[in-house]
Amino acid sequence: MVTIVFYIFLFLYGIIIGSFLNVCILRVPLKETIVLKRSHCMKCGHQLAWYDLFPLFSYIFLSGKCRYCKAKISKQYPIIELINGVFAVLCFLIEGFLVNDIDKSMDNIMIVYWFFTMLLSAILCSVLLVISVIDWRTFEIPLGANIIILILGILHLIANIVVYGSDGNWADLVAGFFIVSIPFTAIYYFSKGKAIGGGDVKLMAAAGLFLGWKLCLVAFFTGCLYGSIIHIARMKISGEGKQLAMGPYLAAGIITSLWFGRHIVEWYAGFFS
Ligand SMILES: [Zn+2]
Repeated sequence: MVTIVFYIFLFLYGIIIGSFLNVCILRVPLKETIVLKRSHCMKCGHQLAWYDLFPLFSYIFLSGKCRYCKAKISKQYPIIELINGVFAVLCFLIEGFLVNDIDKSMDNIMIVYWFFTMLLSAILCSVLLVISVIDWRTFEIPLGANIIILILGILHLIANIVVYGSDGNWADLVAGFFIVSIPFTAIYYFSKGKAIGGGDVKLMAAAGLFLGWKLCLVAFFTGCLYGSIIHIARMKISGEGKQLAMGPYLAAGIITSLWFGRHIVEWYAGFFS
């Protein structure tokens, strides 16, 4: 029961953050402020009341139209809110976090650490969502988003050192910062920024610190796999050009690795044992 209530709150947290992500997605590429301005209808400019702004439910309640001018509200809003809500839930659920079933033999500090890393993962997924949409539209990953991921990585590293000390995997995490970013940097310079963007390099460095080197490699390979399959399909179907925004695919790879990377690493290691 406690677990169900916890997950309902987690989902609500996710969709509320999701509506803030929508603001970021729209305003960051325009270099607009993301906090001070009140939200308004894109069509009639009418300022929105608090009850128009409730994530996901306002959209459903207003059946996707502005209360004042009946203009259609972009589907982006509910979709991003919903995805972020589901991401937040999955970040805890996949780890098997059940409130009334927490292993009693676990130290309190371990439970706090566990909870803290899942929370960081949920924030990481939110930032990756913003990066994916913005990069998809503008072929640009905002520097601020990469800096937030770097901060998440540093927090993860600090928590790991505090809890495990020298027995922890701090060295794996630090190696994650370099494992993909170094070859990416080389490709970036040799191709003069054509094959790969500077934002992609920074993303893989920052996310690598969070993931550690093994999971960072998993993120890279799954990201490339998604990218090649989907982009080739898009080139065939919609005649999409060769220009490829790597951000969304790398982000999908990072999330896959975050959730399932450890299993993929074990499965891969199984071939050599
Ligand atoms: Zn309106």
